[in-house]
Amino acid sequence: MKPPTKTPVSEALAALVGQHADAIDTPALVVDLDAMQRNLARMAEFAKKHDIRWRPHAKMHKSAALARLQVQAGAVGVCVQKTAEAEVMAAGGVRDIYISNEVISPAKLVRVAKLAHQLSAEGGQLAIAVDSAEGITRLARAMNEARTDKPAVIDVFVEIDVGQGRCGVPPGPAAVALAHEIRKHAPLRFAGLQAYHGKAQHLRSAQQRREAISVVVEDVTHTRKLIEAEGVAVDLVTGAGTGSLVCEAASGVFGELQAGSFLFMDADYAQNERDPAAPNFEHALFVKTQVISAGAEHAVCDAGHKSHAIDSGLPKVHTLAPGKELSFANGGDEHGILRPAGANTRIPAIGQMLWLVPGHCDPTVNLYDFMIGVSGGLLNGKVERIIRVDARGALT
Ligand code: PLP
Ligand code: MN
Repeated sequence: MKPPTKTPVSEALAALVGQHADAIDTPALVVDLDAMQRNLARMAEFAKKHDIRWRPHAKMHKSAALARLQVQAGAVGVCVQKTAEAEVMAAGGVRDIYISNEVISPAKLVRVAKLAHQLSAEGGQLAIAVDSAEGITRLARAMNEARTDKPAVIDVFVEIDVGQGRCGVPPGPAAVALAHEIRKHAPLRFAGLQAYHGKAQHLRSAQQRREAISVVVEDVTHTRKLIEAEGVAVDLVTGAGTGSLVCEAASGVFGELQAGSFLFMDADYAQNERDPAAPNFEHALFVKTQVISAGAEHAVCDAGHKSHAIDSGLPKVHTLAPGKELSFANGGDEHGILRPAGANTRIPAIGQMLWLVPGHCDPTVNLYDFMIGVSGGLLNGKVERIIRVDARGALT
């Protein structure tokens, strides 16, 4: 059998551009481009008002095109979590990249060092987080071995654990020791502190989040003072997510916001009580699905947990008409069970199109090769562009 010369998927996708949103077959990951642009503008305005840098987390969208869009809107660059994501972003033209995570394996550190030299030669830069002396030694070794005629420097942030109980040394003397350790190596520049509190992002009340971040701010301030007392400058404190960014922005100690989910917003974030001082971000990411079976009590759509991540809860059916709410229950890999949940809801008919708001945007995006960008609204809009999920599955 002769292998096909072109992949049918990309041909079908390319043909969608310019067509009515109705033409998008299901299940599909759809971006409401107008809502996304509004979220982007709100973030840019918020950062400007607080005179703070923003470096959105690209692990969320994994798209070099969206990263470039964020930089055009005023972001200083992007965060990534993985070496492979950094490589993908660099290949897509992003010049200022921060791996906000620990990288330990020598095989990856060779790639990190190579990328640091490449970005530096292009006028950009790479940064990384550390939380151990061992990690610093390994990073320094890789940077020294990668030396070219033009030596590059990598910015290194000491990660402190400010309450998440994940990576990071405890705030205080342990962080001071690591700052000194970094400064022993010429290709490493101590750049400041990484202080991200993941667990605080989804505390439901704004007051709870404020309380959690006030502890973070105390820890950061204390640690920074200890380091500065030894004559070492702490140029930047970086952290914050979509749920808490208003607190870090007002803290006076954070210089950079790493929020990622704000661009798309998910159903989990919609359950947070909005802090009145925070930008009003709206849903911009949807799974388009359609009813494939309908009975007397329920209908079944073609989106199951291979179409959306369920680690932060099931998707919500996006209601375009009030009173016509539908509930969504898990029907397995490929099916969702829909039941009436509003005063005027009928069981949807076979063929009816529905829009789901995923529970968690990051791992949902990672299930797709492409996002379909629609402008002019989900119902009456047109497909404007196809956005490749360039770093899909980039795990190393
Ligand atoms: N910074 C770090 C280190 C993270 O791990 C994350 C997300 O998990 C973020 C920033 C962005 O948070 P969010 O997507 O909730 O805005
Ligand atoms: Mn997330």
